[in-house]
Amino acid sequence: MVVGSVELEPLVDAVGLLGELDDLYPGFDDWGPYRTLYPELFAGSQWRISCTSYLIRAGGTTVLVDTGVGPAGLWGWTPESEEGLLPALAAAGVAPGEIDVVFLTHLHIDHVGWNADREGELVFPRSRYVAHRDGVAFARESDRPHVPRTIAPVAFDEIGGETELADGVTAFELRGHFPGHMGVRIESGGERAVLIADAAVHPLLLHEPEAVYVSDADPDDCAETRVAVLPEFVDQDVLVVCGHYPGGGIGRVVTREGRVVWEQA
Ligand SMILES: [Zn+2]
Repeated sequence: MVVGSVELEPLVDAVGLLGELDDLYPGFDDWGPYRTLYPELFAGSQWRISCTSYLIRAGGTTVLVDTGVGPAGLWGWTPESEEGLLPALAAAGVAPGEIDVVFLTHLHIDHVGWNADREGELVFPRSRYVAHRDGVAFARESDRPHVPRTIAPVAFDEIGGETELADGVTAFELRGHFPGHMGVRIESGGERAVLIADAAVHPLLLHEPEAVYVSDADPDDCAETRVAVLPEFVDQDVLVVCGHYPGGGIGRVVTREGRVVWEQA
């Protein structure tokens, strides 16, 4: 996929089941339309997600956005496929040593898994690891099991606000899902894409922005963020990218019969 002169390529690291939808979205039960719209996201009563990283090549700079779930067997979900990131990167013709910037939208396990390998050695030792300072501070203090392997060994380049990662590629804050949660805007040659990371982890949240997902750190902030940014996406000429959506997660947000839906591009 090309956005102006910027290349944007999805790299699927893993696919698996995260749990019962009714537990993950308490109080929400109108799943029927979403089963029809996004069959890949359902496994019976459970939520099936992809965990997709993105390779961005812009003006001689190579950026990897998020590093997936990481080595198999370290996260308590029900995987269907794992350990896809490094083979996908190789298939794209990029060696780990050629990544200039590893940008982490936030520091949940499914976004930082290949920061380091199973032994805790950095997978991208030549890269600048970039993340929001609030997320780094929060993660370093937390007792989540992935932190010693994937966060502790990294010397982060800590950012905030809006920060250019490469020509036409800018990280920006999307508050709510995790402290310092960020997205990425790509603007090049009059074309646009927005990587929303986990600001709307299930496309139902584009139509029902105030629905609550249990892993959102601050549900009110999340809802506020979605309500604020949706006008920028809906029926606009912009690619909307989420690594947990089907088929690589690159698509558009459009209105169909009164419902806001995400359609793969
Ligand atoms: Zn996630």
